[in-house]
Amino acid sequence: MMEGFDEERLLSAKTMRSEQQSETSLRPHRLEDYVGQESVRENLSVCIDAAKARKEPLDHILLYGPPGLGKTTLANIIASEMGVSIRVTSGPALEKTGDIVAILTNLQEGDVLFIDEIHRLSHTVEEVLYPAMEDFEFDIIIGKGPSARSIRFDLPRFTLIGATTRSGQLAAPFRDRFGILFRLELYTTAELARIVARSAGILSLDITPDGAAEIASRSRGTPRIANRLLKRVRDFAQIMNDGVIDRQTARSALQRLDVDELGLDGVDRRMLEAIIRSFNGGPVGLETLAALTGEEAVTIEDVYEPYLMQIGFLSRTPRGRCATPAAYKHMGLEHLMKKK
Ligand code: ADP
Repeated sequence: MMEGFDEERLLSAKTMRSEQQSETSLRPHRLEDYVGQESVRENLSVCIDAAKARKEPLDHILLYGPPGLGKTTLANIIASEMGVSIRVTSGPALEKTGDIVAILTNLQEGDVLFIDEIHRLSHTVEEVLYPAMEDFEFDIIIGKGPSARSIRFDLPRFTLIGATTRSGQLAAPFRDRFGILFRLELYTTAELARIVARSAGILSLDITPDGAAEIASRSRGTPRIANRLLKRVRDFAQIMNDGVIDRQTARSALQRLDVDELGLDGVDRRMLEAIIRSFNGGPVGLETLAALTGEEAVTIEDVYEPYLMQIGFLSRTPRGRCATPAAYKHMGLEHLMKKK
């Protein structure tokens, strides 16, 4: 049904994953280069200074917020500001107890262990992490039956940094073991413009301030999308405008990529249109929206919804999602608005 659509889809889980490797070069390495998230940065800087003064590792940290907002980047910055090594893994990659044991027993004093998508850890792995986080030790049982015995491992004091798109999915006792919780917010257009300008500098691109602002305003509050759009616009600028990215080039390039002035793409618009036309404005359940758009339900919840809610196009009710008057207006479907 959606053939040929995947390539152009800017937000799909697949595009997100395939790009993650090429992002490394655009990552800031110091806290002072990390744009935005003022309160997180200030608090973090205090925690880092205090831990360093005490010559102790940082407390365990939980970072949460939608994908592409800079959680992985921040974890790397924390390790480098503390002057320690970082070991990176993810919830789905840690299947068995042995996987986590191998990692834990290789940590050095003070190291950062970063677990992305920590809400997807298996229960058995979580059980090993509890005592490891709390007392820097854990027991494993060797053998079976009457000859089974348990062996205790002592660990160096390390810092676990967990990242999740949904802190609500962590079991309360697990969440409570993180001493520091930071919630990352969607970025403002001005912040994103700074990120675009910075990335353009790293990639040696010629960009005007209003070219950067144009890309920023269509990036749905998300640095990863801003960088992605910048790279797409670069190709257009090369052919259309001698490589210079100004407002007009950015505009035409993004129009061609089906990204509108607010950053909505085909999936957003199909979703809003379906809620309005087929469901009278809602409420519509998440699974129905997934079926309508061909996206996974989690992608809709983690990627599409936060921005649509932030700009006031979608509201969430216990019975499902509803399109707001602003969404009707943006879609040019005001004539279909229900009369109160
Ligand atoms: P997450 O782990 O939350 O999915 P990442 O840390 O992988 O997000 O960030 C995605 C990309 O966005 C990175 O390559 C980085 O270049 C950029 N980025 C994220 N946050 C910032 C920031 N605050 N300042 C500058 N660039 C950022």
